[in-house]
Amino acid sequence: MSTAATSFPERNAAEAADLVLAPETAAPEVRARRARQRRQMYMGQVASYSLGASVLLLYAYDGTISMGVPSLFWIGGLIIIGTFTVLSEAGFGDRFKDHYLTVYQISAHMALQLAFLLAVPTVGVAFLAVLFLIFAFGTLRMTSGQAMLTWGLATCGLAAVFLGSDLPIGLPVTTRLQRAASMLCFVLVIGQCAFLGLFGATLRKILYRRSIELKAAYQRIEELAELDELTGAYNRRCIMRLLDAEIEKSRQASTPCAIALIDLDWFKRINDAFGHPVGDEVLRTFAITIFANIRPADSFGRYGGEEFLLLLPGMPGDVAQRMLERLRGIVADLDWSAFSPGMRVTISAGVATLRDIDTADTFLARADRALYSAKAQGRNSIVTS
Ligand code: GH3
Ligand code: MG
Ligand code: MG
Repeated sequence: MSTAATSFPERNAAEAADLVLAPETAAPEVRARRARQRRQMYMGQVASYSLGASVLLLYAYDGTISMGVPSLFWIGGLIIIGTFTVLSEAGFGDRFKDHYLTVYQISAHMALQLAFLLAVPTVGVAFLAVLFLIFAFGTLRMTSGQAMLTWGLATCGLAAVFLGSDLPIGLPVTTRLQRAASMLCFVLVIGQCAFLGLFGATLRKILYRRSIELKAAYQRIEELAELDELTGAYNRRCIMRLLDAEIEKSRQASTPCAIALIDLDWFKRINDAFGHPVGDEVLRTFAITIFANIRPADSFGRYGGEEFLLLLPGMPGDVAQRMLERLRGIVADLDWSAFSPGMRVTISAGVATLRDIDTADTFLARADRALYSAKAQGRNSIVTS
């Protein structure tokens, strides 16, 4: 005897996973999908009540209960399911976060079981067993608050029946048919509880998989994004792509191309002395300063940490050296004490010009060696290799 079986293919579980969506996010296709899920659930409930009524029919056949009980039980179930189906088709549930109206459904089915428990106490344990199924169904959708509420309602109902009356609640096991019917009602409830448990486990697996997929997608979006979030400069991936493209272009047009690896001097000390957030602000201000002083054709990207790559297409080495000297002077002359009294920020850069045999790696390696020399010279300096 049971009330709440649903069908269990993974697709249903996947669709049910959207039950956490807030009502305002429900687009028409989401509403349609939800209505479909609810229809499947109601069909499952009809099947469940039919099984329950069949077991009651065995008791009735045996003469344990009156012949009217199975059909009344079935009709009672159908009235509840029908009411919720009408509400569902009218889109009533879509106004609520829990579009299944779980608490109302559970309360209604619970009330029906308690009513039959009072009316037909001879087979009362069979109706009590259904309460387990109702709650197993509820755990798929209820919040902890809803669970407490429905549990409270169940407790009140059971207290009224058990403590407020002295009805002999029984499970008939005298005749063979009674024993078979009693066994069946447990077998069916256990089976359906197990199915609901499996359904819940599938749901959890799907949610877990989705969260992994979402993480991967987010990572991919970040990779595809071109800009570094902190400084607004191109990110490493993008500036490396642009470097490859510039090398190619310079080769084809036989024009010079210079690059500069720029590194902030003693930046760790700035972080240590003024804090990481101030360090971030320094990086941002440095980037803005560079943007304001380069040509539109130049590309500026964050190579990593506090190291930046500047692409200077069409620029010969001596011009690039002068330009970097100018940038160095501008950065050094900025009033950094506005961030924190006593702060000074300087940069060093290694400049390299493209050679015929260069790959992006060898080109960058020369700029890096030049930067290393600039640092070795005492920082706040520019070296061309
Ligand atoms: P050098 O003059 O030799 O370059 O010394 P340095 O201290 O600048 O170099 P080092 O490589 O020792 O330290 C770089 C520091 O840059 C360490 C790291 O915490 C800091 N850094 C890297 N990225 C960020 C960032 O996004 N924000 C902040 N605030 N600090 C960063
Ligand atoms: Mg540095
Ligand atoms: Mg560095």
